[in-house]
Amino acid sequence: MALSADADVQHSGSSAPTLLLDAGTGLRQVPALLNQRPYKGSILLSHLHWDHVQGLPFFKSGDHPGAQVTLLIPPQEDGADAEHVLARMMSPPLFPIGPHQLRGNWRFGVLPPAAFSDDGVAVESFRMTAREIPHKGGRTVGYRISDGHASLAYLPDHCPTEIGPGPDGWGAYHPAALELARDVDLLIHDAHLFPDELAAEASFGHAAADYAVGLGAHAGARQVVLFHHKPDRRDDDLDRLVARFASAAPTVRGAFDGLELDL
Ligand SMILES: [Zn+2]
Ligand SMILES: [Zn+2]
Repeated sequence: MALSADADVQHSGSSAPTLLLDAGTGLRQVPALLNQRPYKGSILLSHLHWDHVQGLPFFKSGDHPGAQVTLLIPPQEDGADAEHVLARMMSPPLFPIGPHQLRGNWRFGVLPPAAFSDDGVAVESFRMTAREIPHKGGRTVGYRISDGHASLAYLPDHCPTEIGPGPDGWGAYHPAALELARDVDLLIHDAHLFPDELAAEASFGHAAADYAVGLGAHAGARQVVLFHHKPDRRDDDLDRLVARFASAAPTVRGAFDGLELDL
């Protein structure tokens, strides 16, 4: 299993990703991975915030006559279906076309209840489980993806202080987060904040990098990728963020555009 930092996942030995985690502007980089061929696979959304959906209308491999895409969103509190929810962002006058006008064969759906069971469900020959996690403004899930050989957990937007301060003040190591990250080869986690920003900014729905590393340690993850950087960070800031964990177990690295990892 391999992935890159806009969180596209592909099976070992295959030539193209078949699973995309979220649909932010990172989707603009996927056509190059596909050699400009149409996308045939699934997109799993963690939640519907702009930074996780606004790549969708500009996803050339998906907006393509040969595309075959299944897009799944978390169950909505008001029961709204996926296409309807996406059309709130993607329809006139905010955008010229709606989701149903993307070319190719698109299927929009809500995560089935079985995705929240212990065994999860099959998606593109991966085993996927979802768990609801605290964030802000709308239901948010984290994902665990496995190919039977390697596993990863993906919690891009997570506010564990909503549940409590936890043992070290970074937020509670709650059962949903621990289940997703248990013994994974790779934990991709929200690291939006430095610890000294937590008190003032956690209410926006994000985690300190220290929580990401702490969760990795509590859950037995082998590697943590710090993800969802604050937009105004400079490279020096991110180097400083990651360097704080140079001697940490598990191994910690910072996500960057184009990062590729083999698991
Ligand atoms: Zn969010
Ligand atoms: Zn986000």
